[in-house]
Amino acid sequence: MSLTPADALLRYAVIGNPIAHSRSPQIHAMFAEQTHIALDYERLAAPLDGFRDTVKTFFLQGGRGLNVTVPFKQEAYALAQDHLSTRARVAGAVNTLTWRDGVVHGCNTDGVGLVDDLKRLGAALQGARLLLVGAGGAARGVLQPLAEAGCADIRIVNRSPARAAELAATWQASGLHSGTRVSAGGLPDAARPGGWDVVVNATASSLRDEAPAMPPGLYATDALAYDMVYGARPTAFMHQATADGAARTADGLGMLVGQAAESFYIWHGLRPDPSAVLTTLRAELLAED
Ligand code: NDP
Repeated sequence: MSLTPADALLRYAVIGNPIAHSRSPQIHAMFAEQTHIALDYERLAAPLDGFRDTVKTFFLQGGRGLNVTVPFKQEAYALAQDHLSTRARVAGAVNTLTWRDGVVHGCNTDGVGLVDDLKRLGAALQGARLLLVGAGGAARGVLQPLAEAGCADIRIVNRSPARAAELAATWQASGLHSGTRVSAGGLPDAARPGGWDVVVNATASSLRDEAPAMPPGLYATDALAYDMVYGARPTAFMHQATADGAARTADGLGMLVGQAAESFYIWHGLRPDPSAVLTTLRAELLAED
């Protein structure tokens, strides 16, 4: 997609459907305040059949960048297909569109957000044995950054095992990071002798207050359980992990802030401080409870 912008305003937005719930405008406003950048970041609702036209209009009116959320990440991938980062190519999904030199570029920052948050939480990813639960868009987006961070062994398990197998096969065909063993199975195949160092729940199960139906005994000594879903209270998956012996649990609020920080860096060349923003958002979530 190639365009000529009408002007040079520092306009950004998050695009999705629905979009009213998005915390991205608040996160980017806090990053902008930290780094003294004057910008305008709004919520952009696109009709389900009107993603491409809405994006085009936004960039023609001077927009510089878009965060993309449900259900448009794959359409954003198609839109930016001639200018994709490796992360986006492997993920098959784009959450960050950037207008640069008359062209739309696509990247996926979800995986960087997750890896940064796991490190913040003290997880040693170099050589780690990691169980990735889920094989949807979120799981696809984090596979390459987890391998790049040095995980030795990643097993993908999913309610529909065929989807996990397909994701593992796509990964193996990519030829990237051959030092990481990637295997796949169904939820009953989640167990591993000695347990996992890190278990990441990339399913939407916690949104319905359910935990994925996995066997017990998943956790190695000092293991971390991480749910991409976040909320004021521990999720169903976090409860399941604690009962199964996980030493530590965390939800995905830090990932949300981390992916936004990476998008901010792509657009502005500056790294904001995610920890201050995370503290503010956590306090607000608790107050809303
Ligand atoms: P998708 O719709 O692409 O995939 C959903 C996944 O969840 C599939 O693997 C599906 O399995 C699985 N699933 C759904 N319900 C259950 C259940 N009850 N038990 C077991 N598995 C289940 O969604 P995404 O991958 O895009 O997102 C997944 C979650 O991650 C969402 O809740 C989203 O909010 C969260 N997320 C958080 C981010 C953050 O920054 N914190 C960033 C991105 C996502 P199956 O294939 O069998 O249907």
